[in-house]
Amino acid sequence: MICIPTAPEARSTPPVGRFAPSPSGRMHLGNVFAALLAWCSVRSQGGAVLLRMEDLDPERCREEYAALLREDLRWLGLDWDEEMPPQSTRTAVYETQFQKLQSQGLVYPCYCTRAALHAASAPHAADGNYVYPGTCRNLTPGQRAAQQRSPAWRVMVPEENVSFTDGLQGVYRENLAGDCGDFIVRRSDGVFAYQLAVVTDDALGGVTQVVRGADLLSSTPRQLYLYRRLGFTPPRFYHVPLLLAPDGRRLSKREQDLDMGALRRNCKPETIIGGLAYAAGLIDQNTPLTARELADVFRWQNVRRENITLPQTIW
Ligand code: GLU
Repeated sequence: MICIPTAPEARSTPPVGRFAPSPSGRMHLGNVFAALLAWCSVRSQGGAVLLRMEDLDPERCREEYAALLREDLRWLGLDWDEEMPPQSTRTAVYETQFQKLQSQGLVYPCYCTRAALHAASAPHAADGNYVYPGTCRNLTPGQRAAQQRSPAWRVMVPEENVSFTDGLQGVYRENLAGDCGDFIVRRSDGVFAYQLAVVTDDALGGVTQVVRGADLLSSTPRQLYLYRRLGFTPPRFYHVPLLLAPDGRRLSKREQDLDMGALRRNCKPETIIGGLAYAAGLIDQNTPLTARELADVFRWQNVRRENITLPQTIW
């Protein structure tokens, strides 16, 4: 078993945190919740916040959404110290990290179609994705040369248990080979995958604290593996509960669930922040307050771990 130490709880050195939204739609209340906790955690310890647009997917991301995201964050009172370049401009930086993996003999081309993978593999216990069965791992040079389609690129994972301690969720364990399999670091259209880009950007940006939704908890062992192979020190992770619609669905940008457009028409920022702080367990009564006021009372030990189902009517 490999236990990965992540950055220690910063006492003397203030943390560097980040918002890393994907500009693929207007933020919904769940995105606001994760951003609010990320901001309060860092600001309550006197740290800095970076903003980075994760716009890797050219089909889904748009500059107008990025502009709205900035404006919505400002309206909520969630400021940042620096905006990092968007991921779509950093192909050369990811290429260098990709080559580091390649020079360790860890990367290979995969020609499998999505349909073939779904037919051949078992779903991942934690996130419902498919465990890659290693189909293309040992293709011969001749078999590779005979392929008709451009490949995705996968990184090989070892047969070992990885565990780390999440600042909110506690110990999380996964066997990379058994629970996930070799995973994609570059897509067949040439775009680098989220897993490689996020590790590269957080590591090179000096991020020491990552606060994000619990839907990404099961990605963290893959990311910790990349931190190790690329020679970077991992940050400390905090995975915050998801907000669920009254019918139990996860909020989604596609459904325009409680998006910031509607919220801004109907509420003041203090009302939203107070309601979210109350839902998180940070305050005893649902009273309006500013982000700064919440940072002053913020304690990780008071934040609820379980996902939060929203009532039929809020505000
Ligand atoms: N860009 C991702 C999202 O908007 C977040 C990635 C992360 O925080 O690591 O869901």
